[in-house]
Amino acid sequence: MSDTLISPKGTVLTHVATMKTTLEKDDAAKRISVTRVFKIMLDPGHGDHNDENSMVDPGAVAKHDGKTYKEKDMALQFAKAVGKVLAGKGHTVVYTRESDIDNKELEKLQWRVDMAEEQKVDAFVSIHLDAAVGKSSGLSVYANSKADAIKKSVEESVKAIDVRHPKSKSLHVLRENKDRAAILIEAGFITNSVDQKIVEGAELSIEVATGIDAGLRK
Ligand SMILES: [Zn+2]
Repeated sequence: MSDTLISPKGTVLTHVATMKTTLEKDDAAKRISVTRVFKIMLDPGHGDHNDENSMVDPGAVAKHDGKTYKEKDMALQFAKAVGKVLAGKGHTVVYTRESDIDNKELEKLQWRVDMAEEQKVDAFVSIHLDAAVGKSSGLSVYANSKADAIKKSVEESVKAIDVRHPKSKSLHVLRENKDRAAILIEAGFITNSVDQKIVEGAELSIEVATGIDAGLRK
């Protein structure tokens, strides 16, 4: 069979074999991008049931607009919103906690790393909120050496809130997650009522999830 189409005037219209190969390559690329899904562990910081367990660390608490805001609750709510978007993109999403924790036997912070290890996740994303006296505002991302692309991608994706660029920190959950990309996001300042509303809104969770997704695929 000829793989070249010739018009009545003798012009080569197309090279069928080449066209077919190109289409097959496109299909293969599409299949790869569809199947490139990851197992992501979201780690809402803090979360002790009674705020008494030092092994879990209660996290920051702030009062404004006549209401009390707890970091553990806002981090959990935000993590779930991010997780929903990531799951919608086809990733497997697991959590270190989906409610407050009662277990008094946990080894401070390491239990979160142990869970990531046990569940063989590709990426670990810890979610926190910053706290400060005064009007400080913005989102910060810290990363281990395997997560530079994800950090950059999240920073580029976020538009709903200012992105801060603090110095890197040696954080337990980043340092000890040696076999996987690990980031810690301070989503905003719980002490700032503007930030608090942004963290509770849908936009920021979508932007963060989009950044994580794009970073993982790089
Ligand atoms: Zn925290």
